[in-house]
Amino acid sequence: MIAGEIADPRGAAARLAHVRAAIATRARDCGRDPDAVTLVAVSKTLSADEVWPTIAVGGQAIFGENRVQEAKGKWPDLRARAAAIGRTLELHLIGPLQSNKAREAVELFDVIETVDREKIAETLGAEMARQNKRLRLFVEVNTGAEAQKAGISPRDADAFLARCRDVHGLAIEGLMCVPPADEPASPHFALLKVIAERNGIRQLSMGMSGDWPLAVPLGATEVRIGSAIFGART
Ligand SMILES: *Cc1c(COP(=O)(O)O)cnc(C)c1O
Repeated sequence: MIAGEIADPRGAAARLAHVRAAIATRARDCGRDPDAVTLVAVSKTLSADEVWPTIAVGGQAIFGENRVQEAKGKWPDLRARAAAIGRTLELHLIGPLQSNKAREAVELFDVIETVDREKIAETLGAEMARQNKRLRLFVEVNTGAEAQKAGISPRDADAFLARCRDVHGLAIEGLMCVPPADEPASPHFALLKVIAERNGIRQLSMGMSGDWPLAVPLGATEVRIGSAIFGART
């Protein structure tokens, strides 16, 4: 290896560039501003060293993790390494949050996309006040109303959003969904958009490696992409 070169055995930095270009093209093709679609690189299961090339070489600054414990093991290190080269990172929690992890989640993350029940809304509100830290918050909607899946059900979403605002003092800026694996994704993305619009919410986190091209024309402001950048997870 040449001195100063950064090892990237997964070729993630190159794939990242590809994905970015494809998103921009897709956005333009459906008449949207490419800058209005933010790429969240999903780095779950990968080590800090595997993620690093996408930061140092690829210039990626926004990442998603789905477990608090796992994020705790690598992001303080990655943030410090990024700071040393003048970069600031933004970390999104995209997996379920237990209320006993809320304290660590508020310490570690900048955005929590998985607010989905009263207890979490309440605990996050209290914890953000205690730490004097305002995170950006999204509510996860279980658009397929799947029994074991996280997210507020679509029929409870309006009331829950009102309670987040009025009872817990939370400014919810976006909605997030993960469509059922065995159904076409577009109707779920369209439903998320309808719920957002009628509640005056502007950000839509929808679309993953397999379905993001369907989410962009339906108004995704954020796509969460892992395996298309880092390769298949083992
Ligand atoms: C893992 C994960 C992703 C990324 O999935 P890929 O198919 O690897 O792009 C996006 N969103 C959530 C909530 C995830 O858990």
